[in-house]
Amino acid sequence: MYDINEIRKEFPILQRQVYGKPLIYLDNAATTQKPLCVIESITEAYANVNANVHRGVHFLSQKATEQYEEARETVRRFINARHSHEVIFTRGTTESINLVASSFGETFLAEGDEVIISTMEHHSNIVPWQLLAERKGIKLRVIPLTVDARLDKEAYAALFNENTRLVSITHTSNVLGVTNPVEEFISIAHSHGVPVLIDGAQSVPHKKVDVQALDADFLVFSGHKIYGPTGIGVLYGKESYLNRMKPYQGGGEMIQTVRFEKTTFNELPYKFEAGTPDYVGAIAFARALDFVSAIGIEQIAAHEQQLTRYALERMAEIPDMRIFGKPDGSAISFLIGNIHPADLGTLLDRLGIAIRTGHHCAQPLIDHFSIPGTVRASFAMYNTIEEVDAFIAGINRVVKMFG
Ligand code: PLP
Repeated sequence: MYDINEIRKEFPILQRQVYGKPLIYLDNAATTQKPLCVIESITEAYANVNANVHRGVHFLSQKATEQYEEARETVRRFINARHSHEVIFTRGTTESINLVASSFGETFLAEGDEVIISTMEHHSNIVPWQLLAERKGIKLRVIPLTVDARLDKEAYAALFNENTRLVSITHTSNVLGVTNPVEEFISIAHSHGVPVLIDGAQSVPHKKVDVQALDADFLVFSGHKIYGPTGIGVLYGKESYLNRMKPYQGGGEMIQTVRFEKTTFNELPYKFEAGTPDYVGAIAFARALDFVSAIGIEQIAAHEQQLTRYALERMAEIPDMRIFGKPDGSAISFLIGNIHPADLGTLLDRLGIAIRTGHHCAQPLIDHFSIPGTVRASFAMYNTIEEVDAFIAGINRVVKMFG
């Protein structure tokens, strides 16, 4: 059974107050809070098994390596990858996309080739492709939105031509909280022989994502958005692509032999993990995934969807409320009348309610609506119905202040 009080006890920060008020943390799409087991696993790793991985014959190095590779296996299980060497540890979603843009780009793309992205991408799934476009002379094609702010599937299907080489799209929008039917988008791309990268930064923490069921060629996500530490994330890639892709960075660990005449590269996953990896981060990240699995991702999803539905119902009672898109996940973006999002955010903050305002690193999407930005509330496993009520009461108070 989903015991919200027991879950909340695991998160020390939820006990604290801000401005003398209980913290109501509704900025989970930006980053989630960390349970004690994750915080403690960092201390535990440094206190008991710290040594550089893959390099030492000594006891500690072997222990650290074992735990680091177990973490990789935990990630593999969590997303149901076929092989653990298809899981590359990176610094997060942003680095994972940059890795693919760089390595896939260097290996498979030439001038005139095209990459499809969408109007609802986070900047981290736009700018790496623009940089690649400058370097290699490739073209970006952008999937437009329908009137109800969903990806336009027909327009997408019409973007394919003989130059299309890759599709890179988000699973769940960090602004709209809308989950795209990526299975269908992947199958359309595959019917043209084109691989697909799925940005799972906002989906993996909130729903079961199975890379084999989706048949995703690449999946990227960040540890810190799923109760893990900052600075660690994942690039999943099918081995058939990763094996052929050129390395991303050069350095220790990613090589087999180095001679001044010629260097040969290590096998997967090490080919893409140059230098000392964040093994402590990976160990703590795996602890976070185990924590999520013990509660059950489906139970977490059901709880968050209940909060979202309830929040949407209550928000509909507020005059001049404008909700963007049709949120089905755990984030809701909105504006009220002509109250500036920054004003609403600042006043809610004084009530202890942490929400996010602005363009949410998705300026093309914000421009699409011709607005300055939105206010975004986003939920996690530990949020409660009472917190949603406090959030609604807070909004009503601010609206009253603005007359
Ligand atoms: N993609 C999406 C959909 C996101 O929401 C985010 C972060 O908000 C990112 C990518 C970038 O993630 P990170 O900053 O952890 O690399």
